[in-house]
Amino acid sequence: KLSKRLEEVAKSIPKGAMLADIGSDHAYLPCYAYLQGYIKGAIAGEITEGPFQSAVKQVEKTNLTDVIEVRKGDGLSVIKPGEVDCITIAGMGGTLIQTILEDGKEKLQGVTRLVLQPNIGAHHIRQWLIEHKWSLIDEKIMEDDGRIYEILVAEQGEPLESYDEKVEAGILVGPILAKEKNDAFKKKWNHELAHTKKIVEQMEKSATTKEGQEKKKKLENEIRIIEEVLS
Ligand code: SAM
Repeated sequence: KLSKRLEEVAKSIPKGAMLADIGSDHAYLPCYAYLQGYIKGAIAGEITEGPFQSAVKQVEKTNLTDVIEVRKGDGLSVIKPGEVDCITIAGMGGTLIQTILEDGKEKLQGVTRLVLQPNIGAHHIRQWLIEHKWSLIDEKIMEDDGRIYEILVAEQGEPLESYDEKVEAGILVGPILAKEKNDAFKKKWNHELAHTKKIVEQMEKSATTKEGQEKKKKLENEIRIIEEVLS
């Protein structure tokens, strides 16, 4: 059975899409998406030999070798321009996902939708999306198996109006998530708030250098944003 997290990622893939799932590991997501009738085919990309072999085996086991191709390589290098219309990247840190998008920029031209699921550091991705004219059309935050996950869904185009209003807060917590403020969102940001406050408290004594002071200021600003968002 597919995790709730990947099930939610799958739901955001446009119907009938040709998909590239990057960092696919067991290729569970593309196999599931195909069997559910969400996609017409997929490329599963993997950089590491072990997970690449797992993906190959899973696709064979599910008899999907004619519709899901497993390719070995770094990030978007495994796809040709125009080959897919949706890309999923799930289960990695936000900085790694951002790097994969940045390094593979030229492959994104014909891609209509990105579905990204960072485990941490979603703000790195939101920043990248804004800078490269991708607009967030949906965001999800959920708890699965005791961990909190975020999913960012983006399409090419200018950012939504709501994304512009409070850009700084929006990038940090997610403009769409901040409107909904569900339980997972509150849990995450209450936790982040307590954690950040603790760090700043410790810095009161130790941050004597200019750099330290600047870092502290940045965190204090983050605290202000989170408090405002949660209020
Ligand atoms: N996407 C699956 C999920 O969400 O359950 C697997 C996540 S797994 C934690 C991350 C996978 O990404 C690993 O199998 C790793 O080898 C792969 N990976 C990391 N960096 C990559 C890159 N630059 N290009 C392709 N795959 C990469």
